[in-house]
Amino acid sequence: MKRLSLTVILSLLVLISFAQINKDGSQVNVSGIKVTLLGTGTPQPLMERFGPSILVQAGSETLLFDAGRGCLQRLHQIKLDYDKINALFLTHLHSDHIVGLPDLWLTGWLITKRATPLKVFGPLGTKEMAEYLQKAFAYDIKIRVEDDKAPQEGGKLSATEIQQGVIYEENGVKVIAFEVDHGVVKPAFGYRIEYNGHSVVLSGDTRYSENLISFAKGTDLLVHEVMIAPDTLSKSDPRYNITQHHTTPTQAAQIFNQVKPKLAVYSHIVKLSGRTEDEIMNRTKTDYSGALIMGQDLMSFSIGDTIIVNRPQSK
Ligand SMILES: [Zn+2]
Ligand SMILES: [Zn+2]
Repeated sequence: MKRLSLTVILSLLVLISFAQINKDGSQVNVSGIKVTLLGTGTPQPLMERFGPSILVQAGSETLLFDAGRGCLQRLHQIKLDYDKINALFLTHLHSDHIVGLPDLWLTGWLITKRATPLKVFGPLGTKEMAEYLQKAFAYDIKIRVEDDKAPQEGGKLSATEIQQGVIYEENGVKVIAFEVDHGVVKPAFGYRIEYNGHSVVLSGDTRYSENLISFAKGTDLLVHEVMIAPDTLSKSDPRYNITQHHTTPTQAAQIFNQVKPKLAVYSHIVKLSGRTEDEIMNRTKTDYSGALIMGQDLMSFSIGDTIIVNRPQSK
């Protein structure tokens, strides 16, 4: 009995390694899912935390979730070419999640000579945004086709507006969108990605959400946003609304306790008034004893029977 429980504990242990990031970002263990945090930041223009963007590689599918500032540069750092991306999924249309899109799409197209449109899935408003972006960059697109001989189809965005449910199913990979609660930003989505008996859940931007908990239950890896603010912030403070759109460490602990992921990771880290990441971790750990990691740009997770965490080398 003792030996059995030890085996169970060992098998549940998350294996954490400190290996260098993969030299070739396009390589992924075909039996599992690989998740790479390209950007773990917020609207703040920080060098160490680029805008929100997460790469999920599963089987032959290479999927990008949000296109925050610098996502193309991060893809370049892991040597993953833009033309390998099968689809982009947007959680919501706040600018910090989409300002990297023109660079990703147009520079990516110019460099790789991608010959197919980029599929973009997102909430209501995504089609209009894609249409206007193509109008805004019409001059460049025309010149690139005529002068740089870039394939015309690769200069296009193909947008699909989604609702809660299975929105993408290719080569054994399933993407399920679910509504989260991002205050007045409606709808805002989180995503569950399933492949070969494993799953990953990305929260997007949300405050405490029961719907997220029910869609995330039992997932291997839960990547969740977090926000820490001064304990006393009056309703008249202009930052008060920010606190109503995001999840506190204490709330995140409640979420993790119900979802019971093998590993929880913070990304999209909002810190107001000098609050620190240590405070975020300490507050969470007061109420949650499971495996938890503070995400970093270019940190990646290989999800199979265990989860291997690859930390980027310190710069
Ligand atoms: Zn955001
Ligand atoms: Zn947002």
